Amino acid sequence: MSRRILMNELSWVEYQKRVEAGAAVILPVGATEQHGPHLPMGTDAMLATAVAKGVAEKINAIVAPVVAFGYKSQPKMGGGQHFCGTTSLDADTLAHVLRDVIKELARHGVRRMVLINGHYENMMFTIEGIDLAMRELRYDGITDLEILRLEYWDFTRAETLEKVFPDGFPGYALEHAAVMETSMMLHLHPDLVDMAALPTDGPAEFPAYDVYPTRTAWVPCSGVLSPATGAEAAKGVLLFNDYVTDVTAAILKEFPSVSAVA
Ligand code: ZN
Ligand code: MN
Repeated sequence: MSRRILMNELSWVEYQKRVEAGAAVILPVGATEQHGPHLPMGTDAMLATAVAKGVAEKINAIVAPVVAFGYKSQPKMGGGQHFCGTTSLDADTLAHVLRDVIKELARHGVRRMVLINGHYENMMFTIEGIDLAMRELRYDGITDLEILRLEYWDFTRAETLEKVFPDGFPGYALEHAAVMETSMMLHLHPDLVDMAALPTDGPAEFPAYDVYPTRTAWVPCSGVLSPATGAEAAKGVLLFNDYVTDVTAAILKEFPSVSAVA
């Protein structure tokens, strides 16, 4: 497809034209976080961006640059902050980055936005950023902004889940650097996956409580919370297709002013 969809690749003149024509802006939000020895630390950011791009190719939308730092990694869902390289933001910093970006997009006329979250721990702080932005924009007289917010994995269809996890699904929180993310990366960025480095430790078993400072011994040394064995590119295709198809459908349903492109 020759139509440009990345905000960073547009001139301001072209961007203005697209915004005036009612384009939605999709903002991917990720993290810079260890993903085991076999996946890159940008995995969450790359996957959120890939879904955003897949969707933007189907509708009148532009993909904003990914917010590549996320909220602090938690032992039970991302391994925790003790892994070298996991580089995170305080909650209010993340919320304020999102608030500022949303306000800037709105100031230039964007009225339909989609926030695609790829890092579990970001969830509540994306909501906070949206809430702060919309509250402040209302003071500025901008009352017609609508934002659709989602975690892409919630769009996994039941039949896909059965195919990807024939032996049972461990749950989205433990799916860190495991079958889903590894399969998606094998499909989207195969050159960045080292299947020879696939760890054999885990699955992690956590108690029903947390202790601070983090009990790092609870977390598998590899940083992978459940085994990635069984990951394959074909499963990544199934997952990615669900996300692109059904996120696109959700946007078209909720935002009638946004149109599909031929
Ligand atoms: Zn991840
Ligand atoms: Mn994550």
